[in-house]
Amino acid sequence: MTFNALLVEKINDDEVSASVQTLTDDRLPDGNVTVAIEYTTVNYKDGLCMRPKNGLVRTYPHVPGIDFAGTVETSDDPRYKPGDKVVLTGWRVGETHWGGLAQKARVNADWLVRLPDALSTERAMAVGTAGVAAILAVIALEDHGLKPGKGEVLVTGAAGGVGSIATAVLGNLGYDVAAVTGRPETSDYLNSLGASRIVAREEIDTVSKRPLESETWAGCVDAVGGEMLARVIGQLKYGGSVAAVGLAGGSSLPTTVIPFLLRGVNLLGIDSVMQPYENRVRAWERIATDLPLEKLGAMIHRATLADVPELASDILEGKIKGRIVVDVNA
Ligand code: NDP
Repeated sequence: MTFNALLVEKINDDEVSASVQTLTDDRLPDGNVTVAIEYTTVNYKDGLCMRPKNGLVRTYPHVPGIDFAGTVETSDDPRYKPGDKVVLTGWRVGETHWGGLAQKARVNADWLVRLPDALSTERAMAVGTAGVAAILAVIALEDHGLKPGKGEVLVTGAAGGVGSIATAVLGNLGYDVAAVTGRPETSDYLNSLGASRIVAREEIDTVSKRPLESETWAGCVDAVGGEMLARVIGQLKYGGSVAAVGLAGGSSLPTTVIPFLLRGVNLLGIDSVMQPYENRVRAWERIATDLPLEKLGAMIHRATLADVPELASDILEGKIKGRIVVDVNA
């Protein structure tokens, strides 16, 4: 049996190549469930995994792709049987284990989640890892007291994958969403997802000399990190929280402890990769109920495996709007 996969090969310490190749099943890694993949995506981390010296991929040749959705083909685990629809995000699949940018994957059953009935495999990948991280961020903010009516909730990197899903979920739940974007041309898109106000990136992407500014945000889903996250921390309302999801703008955090000490604000770390199974099931259930699925259409950029190398560069340059959905059989 053969299948197509995007194979990343190491040329030398400074170069890798990526191309679609036909592989035989005996190349698949160890695992107890084999999945016929239908859809996968290109996430920011996939962009990193397709660059040399990325610090994530340990062995080559490598199949990237940190998430996928498809149908179980064979299973040695009693929890899954052929024909079951499943989704996988995280667990370092696509980094240390071969990933989803292929027509087939072999994985550990513990890493899979059964798809809720409301979600097709295509819709599940329109959500993908970015969406799981976004919903985990919303859940964390709620667990720390966020409720509609407490004030505006900021979403940074709003036109990207995490930001688009967070904007749509928060808007649907009745929050006043302020969306930060560096691309003013995405304003209509962000308003259609659920943003009630657009904040220009340059208004908020440098640190303030003052550790505390006006209390502005009841909460924040932050995909950007760096100076923007530091700035947001100083603008949170008393007791407010920011869920730190990403580092699209940098991994530093040039802030002070003053907002934590004088305003009791919270910095909540969000990791989607190693989340326990129960939290993943909860996240997918919340996606099925709280994300207005009709809004996913506007977020999707459809692609094939052959399109991925170029899209991987684009996502690292912040050029992608919403979510890339890769039909591996197209
Ligand atoms: P995208 O590239 O789709 O979105 C990132 C967005 O951030 C861009 O669209 C852009 O939004 C904004 N942005 C990009 N560069 C800058 C910059 N220099 N300064 C300010 N804003 C910038 O990526 P994803 O949404 O998929 O992922 C976002 C981040 O979240 C990444 O760092 C990713 O690794 C991380 N992530 C973390 C997860 C976790 O488990 N913690 C899971 C998934 C993702 P705009 O054009 O609107 O300004």
